[in-house]
Amino acid sequence: MNSQVFQTPIEYLKGVGLSRAAVLKKELQIFKFEDLLRHFPYKYIDRTRFYKIKDIQPDMPYVQVLARITHVEILGEKHTRRLVAQAIDDTGVIELVWFQGIKWVEKTLSISKVYILFGKPGFFNGKAQMAHPEMEPYSAVAIQRTGNLTLQPAYNSTEKLKQFSLDSKGLQKLVAVLLEQQLKEIHENLPLYIINRFKLIGRAGAYRNIHFPQDTAILNEAIRRLKFEELFFLQLKLLKNKLLRTQKFKGNIFGTVGRYFNEFYEHKLPFALTNSQKKVLKEIRQDTQRGVQMNRLLQGDVGSGKTVVALMSMLIAIDNGFQTCIMAPTEILANQHYQTIKELVGDDFIEVALLTGSTKAKARKVLHEKLENGDVKILIGTHALIEDKVQYKNLGFVVIDEQHRFGVEQRAKLWHKNSIPPHILVMTATPIPRTLAMTLYGDLDISVIDELPAGRKPIQTVHFYENQRLRMFGFMKQEIAKGRQVYVVYPLIQESEKLDLKNLEQGIDVMAHEFPLPDYRISIVHGKMKPADKQFEMNRFIKGETQIMVATTVIEVGVNIPNASVMIIENAERFGLSQLHQLRGRVGRGAEQSFCILMSHHKLSHEGRIRLNTMVKTNNGFEIAETDLQLRGPGNIDGTQQSGVLDLKVANIVTDQELLLAARTCVEAIFEKDPQLALPENQVLHQSLKAKGDGLSWDKIS
Ligand code: ADP
Ligand code: MG
Repeated sequence: MNSQVFQTPIEYLKGVGLSRAAVLKKELQIFKFEDLLRHFPYKYIDRTRFYKIKDIQPDMPYVQVLARITHVEILGEKHTRRLVAQAIDDTGVIELVWFQGIKWVEKTLSISKVYILFGKPGFFNGKAQMAHPEMEPYSAVAIQRTGNLTLQPAYNSTEKLKQFSLDSKGLQKLVAVLLEQQLKEIHENLPLYIINRFKLIGRAGAYRNIHFPQDTAILNEAIRRLKFEELFFLQLKLLKNKLLRTQKFKGNIFGTVGRYFNEFYEHKLPFALTNSQKKVLKEIRQDTQRGVQMNRLLQGDVGSGKTVVALMSMLIAIDNGFQTCIMAPTEILANQHYQTIKELVGDDFIEVALLTGSTKAKARKVLHEKLENGDVKILIGTHALIEDKVQYKNLGFVVIDEQHRFGVEQRAKLWHKNSIPPHILVMTATPIPRTLAMTLYGDLDISVIDELPAGRKPIQTVHFYENQRLRMFGFMKQEIAKGRQVYVVYPLIQESEKLDLKNLEQGIDVMAHEFPLPDYRISIVHGKMKPADKQFEMNRFIKGETQIMVATTVIEVGVNIPNASVMIIENAERFGLSQLHQLRGRVGRGAEQSFCILMSHHKLSHEGRIRLNTMVKTNNGFEIAETDLQLRGPGNIDGTQQSGVLDLKVANIVTDQELLLAARTCVEAIFEKDPQLALPENQVLHQSLKAKGDGLSWDKIS
């Protein structure tokens, strides 16, 4: 709200007072006028018309019907006792049911009288029904009155509030008072040219009509306007931050591509880069020559080759005299990166070091020195490497892998590792839908790798039920006979950890029985094991000493063993989509045809079935991410908790994608033309941003 009036404490509203203000604050977090104004109705009740019984549909909101009572009887005993009435109009029959207040209803309802019935319709055995309808005897007066009524707003309330007469109706009255008093204080906060371009209604009108709409058309206009406004200002803020950051923070300039990069490119890189990889390298190259700090998100599907792009960017940094680091979310993954990168760069080329929670004090001390004097050029680790005591000589480039597990604040910590902040490349584990990326990472530049290295055969995925288990075992044997290795993954979810462990143990017993020594050897890795034991088991599998790896989801992120070509996921219905996709991405990394078998119970929830079907249908991570977002909503996607997505009150990034894209494009164009928001037509935006408490906090962004 850009007017002071809206900051007024709620107790000052006529009809509120101190005690009501206290419950409003406690129950609904309504502290100020603004909070009440933005306590939007959760539904609207249609009193604008009478429905004919034959037109009633199961999914309708509250409707009213004009009907004559033909029959009343009391059925059932004790807790099944109910009053059932029948009512008719000239098109059909509707059944009315009361479970409570039976006596009173029986007394008031008169047979063959006409009533205005009002309630939420349902269907039972194909017949229209209404439970506990409101009713009022028909009279010309009543009709005339309802004829003037509009869509009635219904507000969330609580038992406590009801004690203060603040049920839905009570709240409605307060909102009405507020609007009557303050409507003229709701000033427009979008420039006229935007309002015209997007055919929006004015702001005051939008607030009035979202609470008290005359009809559905104007209600929809009001909602659209407020959604646009919300998305627009979210983007305005994100892009403003990005702009300010580029103005405020200088970036190291990587002027040359030198020995390290060239030698790697010419003699060590074991494959040709894909066009996508080249394109992203070019983008990073451009970013790091502009003298502005880079903040780039690298999105690519599982197995698309993000690591090598990160490494080659780091080599450019090293060519320019800087140190680099990669931060991974788990120790296993840090280890894996360490191995991969050491292997890629070879011995005696560059000093690469590993720093995790398991690094011994002695080794750590040596490492700290080597970081401070600049000997170590590539440091790989978990968040141990952003601890305050880790000091670098000259950290110039930071890669954050599988970013969504890191908080924004952790990202920001890296900033203080150098006088000029390092360039930052964030890599996601799995793709994120475009609209989500735009909001979650709206202040970053985004690069996308949208192709897999040539020659990869798409993974074949099947869904088996429990009764196909023998077939699955047969398939495993067949693949192991060809020299392949197999993962078998069990879910491990915190709240039922004991049960899961039991599942795992039983699974291992069956497995050991089905795959006896000496032909088969099994590695086991689960969360309850010590890191050293895990590593030992992993290594046996990596070296090919074992053919089967039974594991809980610790292998989920990043593990790369090309000879493993079969992924079996037990209780697959219990995994989320992006997790399933991640897991499947552990295979399909070598030249061989790979397979993924999703094992599940016969009984599946609707969503569970969609998840498994989606996995069978597609290998495309972006498509899977989109389905995942639609199924779970943004609140359950990792990373959203720290972003503004969840503060959205009217808009929804899943269902309002088009509007979000429009808002984003619009904001981009504004900053392109007027970065300072100095043009007269953009004054109103400048003011609105200021009013929204735009005191930028530099540790909140990165
Ligand atoms: P992700 O994007 O999932 O992190 P990785 O970086 O782990 O993928 O790469 C997956 C595998 O593909 C690795 O074994 C890597 O060496 C290989 N790879 C990467 N780029 C190419 C390429 N251009 N051609 C062939 N193989 C590649
Ligand atoms: Mg990776």
